[in-house]
Amino acid sequence: MALPIMKNYINGEWVESNGTQIGNIKNPATAEQIAQVVFGTADDVEKAVQAARKAFVQWRETPPLTRARYLFRIKDALEENFEDIARTLTMEQGKIIDEARAEIRRMIENVEHATGVTTLMCGYTLEDIAKGIDCTGHRQPMGVFAGVAPYNFPGMVPWWFLPYAIVTGNTYVLKPSEQVPMTQTRIFECLDEVGLPDGVVNMVHGSKDVVNAILDHKDIQGVSFVGSTPTARYIYKRCGETGKRVQALGGAKNIVGIMPDAKLNEALPSLVTSFFGCSGQRCLAGSILAPVGEAADLVVDRFVATAKNIKVGDGLSDFTGMGPMASSAHLDRVLGYIEKGIKEGATLVLDGRDCKVEGYPEGYFVGPTIFDNVTPEMTIAKEEIFGPVVCVVRCKTLDEVIKLINTRDFANAACLYTDSGTAARKFKYKVLPSMVGINIGIAAPMSFFPFGGAGNSMFGDIKGHGQEIFHFFTDTKVVIERWF
Ligand code: NAD
Repeated sequence: MALPIMKNYINGEWVESNGTQIGNIKNPATAEQIAQVVFGTADDVEKAVQAARKAFVQWRETPPLTRARYLFRIKDALEENFEDIARTLTMEQGKIIDEARAEIRRMIENVEHATGVTTLMCGYTLEDIAKGIDCTGHRQPMGVFAGVAPYNFPGMVPWWFLPYAIVTGNTYVLKPSEQVPMTQTRIFECLDEVGLPDGVVNMVHGSKDVVNAILDHKDIQGVSFVGSTPTARYIYKRCGETGKRVQALGGAKNIVGIMPDAKLNEALPSLVTSFFGCSGQRCLAGSILAPVGEAADLVVDRFVATAKNIKVGDGLSDFTGMGPMASSAHLDRVLGYIEKGIKEGATLVLDGRDCKVEGYPEGYFVGPTIFDNVTPEMTIAKEEIFGPVVCVVRCKTLDEVIKLINTRDFANAACLYTDSGTAARKFKYKVLPSMVGINIGIAAPMSFFPFGGAGNSMFGDIKGHGQEIFHFFTDTKVVIERWF
């Protein structure tokens, strides 16, 4: 049977790219090829930008409430196709179906939040700044914006930006990750149903060439990027050079501290999910477990015992607790980090390397893996592993946990389990990462709050979603006026 080939969506139509490079999309649980994607070119980007520029003329004059009504329709279409989108996501990315459903739910929450445009896009006014003179600030859309997405959240991440860009009157070009093009293709089929004016949203598949064409394009006003830190830094720099607005969210090395007074029974489920949810392939995943003082032995014992029971397998099965790595290349990378941890002298207390899943001999599986006695200087305590590999760094005090957090190269998220308000306050106050969880293992992105890290985990000043995103997608024009 012929494999489906992912097409670009430009000016309201599904079109083939003129590119010649083909990507093979495999189901990571089976290694079976399920689709192909043609990597787009600068020419595809040019066509998408021209369509978006043309659409902008009418779209910016469309009243915000009318624009919001398209989002209501988009929400309905996404709800109707919810299960199918989630299953597509699991098939190409590997995460378990419940995680895929949760991702699509979070994605839709951004559509819902963006419908608040009629309040969230308002400007402001002050009468009589001098006698008989009034001043008003209007938020205006700017033109064409673009988004570049990573492989680990193929559904949700692009929608941290896209609904806000279009509801404020801009038009959009999205480039999904070339590793997981099927989910957004399925989502754009829903967009296609709702009858948005042609060219308001466009999608070009591909990799670096498409990104560089976006960065070079003079008619693109701004870029929202999510991915690894080296790419985020590159995007930020290039946007600076070409005068574009930019928000570039990068990688992470998140630490979860556990105080001796933490309620361990209550904490364990979310603690374990923090490290092994989405097989550790999320920017908010716990990576270092930092038990404090006398709690350490008990925490490690119970954590290991719970992790051992996680059932690894095909994400589409309702009985699976953890899916595969998204690609064989990434599996090799994670296995490489495990080897490095062993070489550097950490104690491997749970080894997920030889993970066999019955009926899935080719899948990219690695089981829950835990290193104890990791020191802050080891590579596995410094670099982002992005897999189900836990590094236990035992700490004597809360201050030591905070120091550990604030000396990593990343500053995305940090969590603390404790029963003490005093400890929690100190933690919230002192840690550098911008996403903080207290008795919560994942400081999750809420559409109505901003999302993004600090330091090398985010370049740019306006984060994803929340109220601030309405600033990213608008320019404030100030009018000062007097009438004789
Ligand atoms: P990646 O940086 O390899 O790729 C992200 C996007 O950039 C893709 O669309 C890719 O095509 C493009 N790209 C890659 N290399 C490029 C280059 N040299 N020039 C131009 N474009 C390039 O990231 P990934 O592997 O897809 O995603 C995993 C990473 O994303 C992890 O580091 C993870 O922490 C991070 N992430 C961060 C957040 C966050 O909110 N901070 C969320 C999700 C993922």
